[in-house]
Amino acid sequence: MKYQPVIGLEVHVQLLTDTKIFCGCSTKFGAEPNSQTCPVCLGLPGALPVLNKKVVEFAIKAGLSTNCSITPRSIFARKNYFYPDLPKGYQISQFEDPICQHGWLDIAVDGEQLKRIGITRIHMEEDAGKLVHGELSGPGDGSGVDLNRACTPLLEVVSEPDLRSSDEAVAYLKQLHQIVTWLGICDGNMEEGSFRCDANVSVMPVGSEVLGTRAEIKNVNSFKFVKQAIEYEIGRQIDLIEDGGTVVQETRLFDPNSGKTRSMRSKEEAHDYRYFPDPDLVPLVISEKWIEKSRRELPELPEQRQHRFMKELELPAYDAEVLTSNRSLADYFEAGVAAGGNAKSVGNWIMGEITRALNETGTVIEECPVTPEQLAALLALIDDGTISGKIAKTVFDEMWRSGKTPHTIITEQGLVQVSDSGAIEGLIDEIMAASAGQVAEYRNGKDKMFGFFVGQVMKASKGKANPAVVNELLLSKLKG
Ligand code: ADP
Ligand code: MG
Ligand code: ZN
Repeated sequence: MKYQPVIGLEVHVQLLTDTKIFCGCSTKFGAEPNSQTCPVCLGLPGALPVLNKKVVEFAIKAGLSTNCSITPRSIFARKNYFYPDLPKGYQISQFEDPICQHGWLDIAVDGEQLKRIGITRIHMEEDAGKLVHGELSGPGDGSGVDLNRACTPLLEVVSEPDLRSSDEAVAYLKQLHQIVTWLGICDGNMEEGSFRCDANVSVMPVGSEVLGTRAEIKNVNSFKFVKQAIEYEIGRQIDLIEDGGTVVQETRLFDPNSGKTRSMRSKEEAHDYRYFPDPDLVPLVISEKWIEKSRRELPELPEQRQHRFMKELELPAYDAEVLTSNRSLADYFEAGVAAGGNAKSVGNWIMGEITRALNETGTVIEECPVTPEQLAALLALIDDGTISGKIAKTVFDEMWRSGKTPHTIITEQGLVQVSDSGAIEGLIDEIMAASAGQVAEYRNGKDKMFGFFVGQVMKASKGKANPAVVNELLLSKLKG
């Protein structure tokens, strides 16, 4: 039998607010355990939560950017469970009436037609603390609880079970990642858990209308692992069914070392959590005016910007997509064009030399030592024939190293291109005189020899001769 995989993703997005969702404690990463806590996030009896407005603003932005409608009156709920990382005995989350609902993202896989993936809901919730094992500063090597992360704001973005392959799941995840980092509401760091994903996977016979039983794979922390985990899980479920077994609804863990998933616990149902509205928090009322203000404040989103680059700047779709892969890169590109660079050339240099240098030195585009204006100046020097494209790469490396302007480097190192035909003719004459054999071969029809002469002239001029002039003069002189 043939099987159709079905996938739905739940993504946790850690928000870039300075303070926690229901108290004023700092959200800064890496502080001394429990140094960023107060009665509210410690869950002490009687302490009352106060909602952080910034979290609501970020949630609205996320919702508007993913085509959701914003719920005018949304409520917080208690999700009850008992575990040491959660001293209150419940997590404040949203259950009924989450802040955003009924959105979608259009994804593209391998140049196929766009496919619309539904977003069921986006809700706000607090993160839990962290258990620390055997690395306590105190006596003994037992386990402890660090509550610095408790009460850190999260958005949970829940997709419809619309995804049909691991590739679609990764494409959806990448697009969501791009949007939240673009909005500046999440740092997107998957290794540190700022953007983490639970993948729900099931399989059903091809043509069936009834979804199979799903397994939920927890906290997969890279795009690569998401793909691996989903593929492994699809294979496991198919084998199980083919062997006469049945898939049970459960929570599974992905082990990156083995590439396999293994059972963690049977899956809780919503009623196990005994959700109920949190009596300590009033309903959150969001006015139409507030939503409109947020809409106006939204930046131009990656997709819109990509299309503008294609339309206004006539970039090919591929270039426009790469250059809008993150907002800072797109800003850099636009600054280069604003400084007078030709869009296609600026794009090529960013995708070529700049990306290479950034990767080699582990630098982010925000800290690129060559400014967009300097890049545009360098391109202008190629365009007006002052230097060749090849020499420009040498100049670029020096700009990167020293921070000097291209003009300074070219003057200091005497790199100005030689276009003067008299000077080049002199070189050609010398070379032809010294290579009588090759000249004869060329004249006897061995066209390939032409490259030899070009190489000799470029070498003699230390790469500075203008290649176009060299070609032209060589052609006429070799003809004899
Ligand atoms: P829970 O919190 O219990 O995991 P949610 O409703 O929050 O439940 O999330 C369910 C997720 O599982 C959604 O992303 C949904 O698309 C996905 N899902 C639901 N049914 C299936 C299924 N049969 N196969 C794959 N994914 C599914
Ligand atoms: Mg879930
Ligand atoms: Zn606190």
